[in-house]
Amino acid sequence: MTRPVRAAIDTRALANNLAVARSRAPAEPLWAVVKADAYGHGAVTAARALVAAGADGLCVASVEEAEALRAGGIDAPILLLEGFFEPAEIPRCAALGLAVVVHAPWQLTALEVARPEWPLTTWVKVDTGMHRIGFHPEEVGPVRDRLRAASAVAGEPGLMTHLARADDRSEPATTNQLRAFDTLEQPGAVSIANSAGILGWPGARRGLLRPGIMLYGVSPFPEEVAGDHGLVPVMTLHSRLIAVRRLAAGDAVGYGGTWTCPEAMPVGVVAIGYGDGYPRHAPSGTPVLVDGVEVPLIGRVSMDMITVDLRGHPAAEPGAPVTLWGDGLPVERVATAAGTIGYELLCGVTRRVPRDSIA
Ligand SMILES: *Cc1c(COP(=O)(O)O)cnc(C)c1O
Repeated sequence: MTRPVRAAIDTRALANNLAVARSRAPAEPLWAVVKADAYGHGAVTAARALVAAGADGLCVASVEEAEALRAGGIDAPILLLEGFFEPAEIPRCAALGLAVVVHAPWQLTALEVARPEWPLTTWVKVDTGMHRIGFHPEEVGPVRDRLRAASAVAGEPGLMTHLARADDRSEPATTNQLRAFDTLEQPGAVSIANSAGILGWPGARRGLLRPGIMLYGVSPFPEEVAGDHGLVPVMTLHSRLIAVRRLAAGDAVGYGGTWTCPEAMPVGVVAIGYGDGYPRHAPSGTPVLVDGVEVPLIGRVSMDMITVDLRGHPAAEPGAPVTLWGDGLPVERVATAAGTIGYELLCGVTRRVPRDSIA
């Protein structure tokens, strides 16, 4: 048996989740976010499935990510979410047919002097309150005028913003951001909503939608799981038990001996570890499914193995299938236990884990 760690990627679930996003704003263009290797799912596989399911375009974070999609035969429109990182990338953006975000004065200046083979579609990023990237609202008018005058720019620039606290539906900051956005003239296309905006904020469901995490079947809201929104997990991270140990009361398990058997008991050893992207900071008690039965993680996560308390499933044998997250165990629950978010766990699955596309 080869090492049994694998990530199953359910492309039908991607199509289902895209339909959920679409249903919230049926008339709006929907560009699927596939940055960070499609949140760890495999960018080309995910992008192909999402475009086949009707995504109007794709969003990435780097020219290299866009190049990988084009090399994979994907010719859908692509938006570079933070634009180019240096002026030398402008010709590559043009050659790949990318639309680019313009968030900083240096990018604007670079576009004014650039002479790419084809003009680029641009989106002015406006900082309506996240205070990460973007122009202040009062700067937008002059920025737009300069872009309109640049020969490297095609057509009317779009206007884009990003919501900082849309995952909290009681948060007035989102209303304030939407209000700030609407003080601006909107002669061209607009784009506001990520997953939390699409699911939680009717006022943000306008213009180009930019869903990421929800497409992968993960809730953007804390305290909720994907199923609450009709979303289906796309990645299921699997492995198997490679040993079942019968330990005695007082035996300490794993590095540091942080967990001690309170009685004679069976302990399962699963082939998965932080070398695969399973979070090292997952504490004892983090849920794991063995043969579909939920059992708690015990002791420290090693690079290649974890240990689980099998008192709740004493019949488990070596070779038993194990689910770390996905179908039957929402990644949100594992993330909460580990003090992180589903996004980080999915993006963190390492290259040594083979991805199997299932439909
Ligand atoms: C990553 C990203 C998104 C997608 O966000 P989700 O929370 O995953 O839906 C949308 N817009 C921008 C600018 C992003 O960087």
